[in-house]
Amino acid sequence: MSSFKQQPRLIISHQPTPLEQAPRLSAKLGINLLFKRDDCTGLAGGGNKIRKLEYLLADAQQQGADTLVTIGGLQSNHARQTAAAAAKFGFNCELVLQDVPGTPRVDYLTNGNMFLHELLGVTVYQVPVKEDCHQYANSLVARLQQQGKRPYLIPIGGSNAVGSLGYLRCALELIEQLDEQALKIDQLVVATGSAGTQAGLLAGLIIAGVDIPVLGITVSRPGSEQEQLVLTLLQQILQRLGLDPALANGKVHANGDYYGASYGVVTQDSLNAITTTAQTEGILLDPVYTGKAMAGLIDLCQRGIIAKGSTQLFLHTGGSQALPAYISAFN
Ligand SMILES: *Cc1c(COP(=O)(O)O)cnc(C)c1O
Repeated sequence: MSSFKQQPRLIISHQPTPLEQAPRLSAKLGINLLFKRDDCTGLAGGGNKIRKLEYLLADAQQQGADTLVTIGGLQSNHARQTAAAAAKFGFNCELVLQDVPGTPRVDYLTNGNMFLHELLGVTVYQVPVKEDCHQYANSLVARLQQQGKRPYLIPIGGSNAVGSLGYLRCALELIEQLDEQALKIDQLVVATGSAGTQAGLLAGLIIAGVDIPVLGITVSRPGSEQEQLVLTLLQQILQRLGLDPALANGKVHANGDYYGASYGVVTQDSLNAITTTAQTEGILLDPVYTGKAMAGLIDLCQRGIIAKGSTQLFLHTGGSQALPAYISAFN
């Protein structure tokens, strides 16, 4: 724990984020549902990447960087939050972004987060679908260095052992809130993509000695592949903090039944989940991450795999800024 507290961090987000009851959606699902509102972290619409950026930007400052480079889809929430944090702390920011086939045309290319990247004043490189965006980002970093700049490359989703510390911190924050409100939860449900959110949460729960199961609903790959990705990152986080990586054993659970055809491509169930959540709780989800995770939670409740009357916490990781890119999918 002490080694965790020594990790450098900038304060960017509104913390703690609210922990809220959802009585109308709870009644519909036959469970007691809580939302942890990480869509309310504050900066430029908020979302889960802000917590990771608190550690990543502190690291970038320590290394004397002047330019942030990161990678994502055109509608990347991570790219938007990185662009906003760069503006706030005076970094230049260059985004390496890739189109996602199967998404609505026109709006996906120009609306939602694409508009916000532009508004935030960063440079966007659109990499053709067939090219490797990681290779592209590496050569961009080399080019910036040749120009005398000091680039700092943030991996996709901000998910490495540094960025994930933001979710270790979130787990500790949540444990405190549950204590204060005398609440007990049976499971935490979260959308999982680049894995840093789930891995960080698990690291925090392990360090605190709190045994709450975390179910990741995948947004881009089968459950077994996602579990491997989360496990590897969790082991790296534990190692960074001088802890035994074997503490990760048996902790990682991911369900790959709800991501549909591929990352960023809508499913009918996610559109229904978004609509239901909006119309019962006034909470906005998104088609890429939280809508698919909520579709999973709803289905698991309906099939009785999540027990009636149990208390489930849904970590709302944000993303509604991408909704305008998907207007036509709702029609
Ligand atoms: C990035 C993102 C996630 C997934 O978090 P990872 O740490 O990449 O697994 C979930 N929800 C939203 C809205 C996101 O932008």
